[in-house]
Amino acid sequence: MELNTLEAWFVTGSQALYGEEALRKVAENSARVVDGLNASSRLPVRVVWKPVVIGPESILDVCRQADAAPNCIGLICWMHTFSPAKMWIAGLNALQKPLLHLHTQFHRDLPWSSIDMDFMNLNQSAHGGREFGFICSRMGKARKVVVGHWQEDDVQDRMAAWLRAAAGLHELRSLKVARLGDNMRQVAVTEGDKVEAQMRFGVEVNGYGVGELAGHVDNVPEPAIDRLLDEYDRQYAMAPELQPGGPGREALRYGARAELGLRAFLDGGGFRAFTDTFEDLAGLEQLPGIAVQRLMADGYGFGAEGDWKTAALVRVLKVMAAGLPGGTSFMEDYTYHLGARDPKVLGAHMLEICPSLAGGQASCIVEPLSIGGKADPVRLVFTAPPGPAVNVAMIDLGPRFRLLLNEVDAVEPDEPLPKLPVARAVWAPRPDLKTAAAAWIYAGGPHHTVFSQALGSEPIEDFAEMAGVECVVIDRHTRVRDIKNELRWNHRSYGAM
Ligand code: MN
Repeated sequence: MELNTLEAWFVTGSQALYGEEALRKVAENSARVVDGLNASSRLPVRVVWKPVVIGPESILDVCRQADAAPNCIGLICWMHTFSPAKMWIAGLNALQKPLLHLHTQFHRDLPWSSIDMDFMNLNQSAHGGREFGFICSRMGKARKVVVGHWQEDDVQDRMAAWLRAAAGLHELRSLKVARLGDNMRQVAVTEGDKVEAQMRFGVEVNGYGVGELAGHVDNVPEPAIDRLLDEYDRQYAMAPELQPGGPGREALRYGARAELGLRAFLDGGGFRAFTDTFEDLAGLEQLPGIAVQRLMADGYGFGAEGDWKTAALVRVLKVMAAGLPGGTSFMEDYTYHLGARDPKVLGAHMLEICPSLAGGQASCIVEPLSIGGKADPVRLVFTAPPGPAVNVAMIDLGPRFRLLLNEVDAVEPDEPLPKLPVARAVWAPRPDLKTAAAAWIYAGGPHHTVFSQALGSEPIEDFAEMAGVECVVIDRHTRVRDIKNELRWNHRSYGAM
């Protein structure tokens, strides 16, 4: 997955009053800022310089062009000088793509000994940015404001988070999710309003019979399975019974067949995310395990038990995390260690944890699944490495959606887990398990999440802002009393949307 085909447009605001020479300087400086940003390794998306705008027509024009440009994921606006903001109303009214207000100036330090009125005339972002900010606030325009000198690492990191968020939203706007089978029967939290999701986010979720997938699985040519088995043998620590000639080799062979069939089905339909459910596997011999794991590692979104919201979110967060170290996976808060001094969560699923989280080489094993009544599925087993992570979920509250995020710290398991036949992550939630779990439950948070060791909170909060969706963050500052109030206030604030 690469973000280098995407671009963000850099638009510099000014006005005609300054005269030709000053405007030439503004254009020259803004082009140097763009070159500097692109030369930095911190920004994941190319920044494209656009001519300085000095009136309502050129502003509306560049906003319309940005909306129409397929690879443009958002607009970065900088007021080098003062740019009277009534000129921006028509353009900002039209603009559909995300907006970042870069509140910077060309020079870092004041030239104390040489500063004169020519310099003051040319470098006015301190007040020009306020005029622009006013009109954005007056119009209720969602945007991110980044303040500081454009060469600072911190400023570029704030911009990078926004670019990753915008790439995620860009992905969601055209994402197609295949729901194989429907929902796990009677489960509430994995359901939701797919029409509302498409209206708000653009994501298309459609159902397919499992038989259609089974047809693809049955049609996989044998030589392709042989080639994939070679790859499995090279890549994983293969359990003895799964090795060539072993009694489990046929189960592994079926896992490889399922992977190739799923790939053909997904790629044929243009799906970059999918769900399945162990309650509807007609025509399949096993619940797909290694197949789903490896597809996730290749960037496909996945949600179990029909969980299309989490499937879409896995895909979006994988796009946002492109190129960063650390994995991103479908996850479930499975069971707790309520040890008095160090409570923590054991996260896992029946099978489907993404090997992008594997710290080292994954093991490949076959074990019975105690649910679903199908043949024993092959799966990859590993433990996520320690380090900071986020757990993120999308909830459908009926009239609207809520994003919920918990900052956590993955830790080494206290002891080896020799009998646990599934991939897992162990983490301590921030600020502590009791507070985090209570806050999560008050917020209506689900058991399924996206667990990412690649992303922090910032790009996800930026994503929520640009998607117009509530984002509740549980972090080291969280207190249950405060979050209950935040939920009440947010309900009033977002309730009618
Ligand atoms: Mn589940």
